[in-house]
Amino acid sequence: MAAKAAVLRQHQGAMKIEPVEISSPGPGEVLVKIKACGICHTDMVMRDGLLPVPTPVVLGHEGAGEVVEVGDGVTHVCPGDHVVMSFASCGGCPSCVEHDPAYCHQFFPLNFFAVRPDGTTAITAGGEPVHSHVFGQSSFATYAVASGTNVVKVPADLPLEVLAPLGCGIQTGVGAVLNSLDVRAGSSVLVMGTGAVGMSAIMAARIAGAARILAMDLSADRLALASELGATDILHPDGKKAVLELVQGAGLEGVDYIVDTTGVPPLLAQAVPALNIRGVLGLVAAYPPGEKLDVEMAFMMSGGRRIQGVVEGSSDPQDFIPKLIAWYRSGLLPIDRMMKFYDFADISTAIEDGESGKVIKPVLVMS
Ligand SMILES: [Zn+2]
Ligand SMILES: [Zn+2]
Repeated sequence: MAAKAAVLRQHQGAMKIEPVEISSPGPGEVLVKIKACGICHTDMVMRDGLLPVPTPVVLGHEGAGEVVEVGDGVTHVCPGDHVVMSFASCGGCPSCVEHDPAYCHQFFPLNFFAVRPDGTTAITAGGEPVHSHVFGQSSFATYAVASGTNVVKVPADLPLEVLAPLGCGIQTGVGAVLNSLDVRAGSSVLVMGTGAVGMSAIMAARIAGAARILAMDLSADRLALASELGATDILHPDGKKAVLELVQGAGLEGVDYIVDTTGVPPLLAQAVPALNIRGVLGLVAAYPPGEKLDVEMAFMMSGGRRIQGVVEGSSDPQDFIPKLIAWYRSGLLPIDRMMKFYDFADISTAIEDGESGKVIKPVLVMS
């Protein structure tokens, strides 16, 4: 099928929209006509070659659209269904069997190798193969062949451009708070960084009934929105005061949970001493491989404090995305407040606005 896709020909280059051919869905796959795709920070990490995604490739992993055709063995969706796509998982490893697919033993190859398990791709340009199946989808395109496991049916009455980012950034932030850290009602939560993931964590902390929700960022605009979305306190790191001092300045001895979405090691090292007894630090950002965190073991041991890695908010998308949609409908998760919509042709502007911090969640709309 003829389609258009934003092809990245070399790492650190620009994505250019090109005519491409998309293959039919294979066994277990779904062909989706893409209506919208959010831009996630991980797309930029892949673009820059910091994850070993091969080129030429089509990125994009927050796609939403309408099912056109299903391959053999796919029974949970049918043509005409509206769907959101999330990350890919194998379905058969110990984590997948226990409904914990974010920790799939095949997570890395399935989401970053940009080929099917048999080594083929679903996209060609001028007869040459282009890597597909990034996060089981490659949705910076007008059509995508997705892995069936990551396609989630959604209600047809809601705008797909608002639902698209549920598949990665939003489920990561909300899931970090509600699934991974399982934040207790009445507790205190510090969210470091108020991008799409951090802002989602703030909304989730409010859903969890946290008594104090502290938002930390350099951007005054983002902190203002964070306050509207649930933050009870805003912290401005000034480079001089330690995180613990900032927390104490808000009248707290420490915090019960820290959600780190910044990935800035010196800031993290400073944040650990702000953990209360039984406190948990959630590592939610994209951390540079090899980077280490310096922590005092006696401090961690004595209060039963923990550090926990978090992938995709420990979500099982098939269960969690419908929950996110219910919260969106009820007004508890006003995710559209952080979005800006762009025509697919304006992908470069959308990426620029996301990277400069001008827009929290840019979303491409395929007409
Ligand atoms: Zn698995
Ligand atoms: Zn993502």
